[in-house]
Amino acid sequence: MTLAVDIRSVSKSFNGTRAIDGLDLSIPEGATYGLIGPSGAGKTTAIRMIMSILFPDSGTLSVLGQESALAAKDRIGYLPEERGSYRKMRVGEFLTYIGRLKGRTRSQCEARAQRLLRRLGLDDVMQKKCEDLSKGMLQRVQFVAALVNQPDLIILDEPFSGLDPLSVRLMKEVIEDEHGRGATIIFSTHVMAHAEELCQQIVMIDKGRKVLDEATAGLRRQYDPRRILLAPLDPGASLDALKKLPGVQDVTTGPDEALIMLAAGTDPATAIRGIVERVAPARIELARIRLEDIFIRLVSEGVSEESRQQLRTHLQGLST
Ligand code: ADP
Repeated sequence: MTLAVDIRSVSKSFNGTRAIDGLDLSIPEGATYGLIGPSGAGKTTAIRMIMSILFPDSGTLSVLGQESALAAKDRIGYLPEERGSYRKMRVGEFLTYIGRLKGRTRSQCEARAQRLLRRLGLDDVMQKKCEDLSKGMLQRVQFVAALVNQPDLIILDEPFSGLDPLSVRLMKEVIEDEHGRGATIIFSTHVMAHAEELCQQIVMIDKGRKVLDEATAGLRRQYDPRRILLAPLDPGASLDALKKLPGVQDVTTGPDEALIMLAAGTDPATAIRGIVERVAPARIELARIRLEDIFIRLVSEGVSEESRQQLRTHLQGLST
């Protein structure tokens, strides 16, 4: 397996504070990886080291087989977290400039820029000055700048932050297409659902440390044995009887379905039998565990290292 990015035991401190602490990360070529974690976890620092904007205090790093991203810059596209440079340039000029810096011809850049802008709902901005665009438009233009050289490795730092849902959707479609043509994609987000939707592999970072590195497919198969979703066959059916069922802790009704919370130690199969005897279901299932829940279980104070390890082993078992 050829690796697009290989990070080994990398640490980085700022003024004595560890932003990244012994990070190991191997990203195969052609994969989509989501780096997730709360604000301040170390995602941007990790990305900046991959991009050779920052350098590790210790450990080693290789990008597309090179010791530095600078040696592979023509094959990399990068959307930084801080946006908004090149404000005086026209959009077309800016995108061509970036593409040409990375070894592409003017006509290649113009054709690809036009096509990508159109896909992102920006049909007629080529002649506009960057400073005349709205924040969301400029963000999409900078996203195009990260793709204009048709890179083999695409690194996006919080690409969706501050965007409206339609722009997010269009950007996700473009990312999926770039992955489809074989590019490796790495992006960071603090919105775990974005990573869950787009990535084959999820890497959770907390306080500079990697707490999870698992295939999304396995995580998706995770069900929470304590939360049951029930859509009644008769939407008007009373659910009062469920509240009295042994093992049921709480019933919350939503517009389409109810969430039934079971007490710790309750057998979900027994509870489901009891529920369907009282309320005929259109659908009844265990709720999926959300990435947020997994994250919280892995990083909460008071959770023993043993139970964290048990959860990791369990998740690994699901992805293999
Ligand atoms: P994230 O991208 O996950 O929000 P960052 O990598 O930006 O996290 O930050 C990780 C930690 O490193 C934070 O505590 C942040 O304050 C600190 N940090 C990041 N960059 C710098 C810097 N240039 N100087 C000092 N501290 C920094």
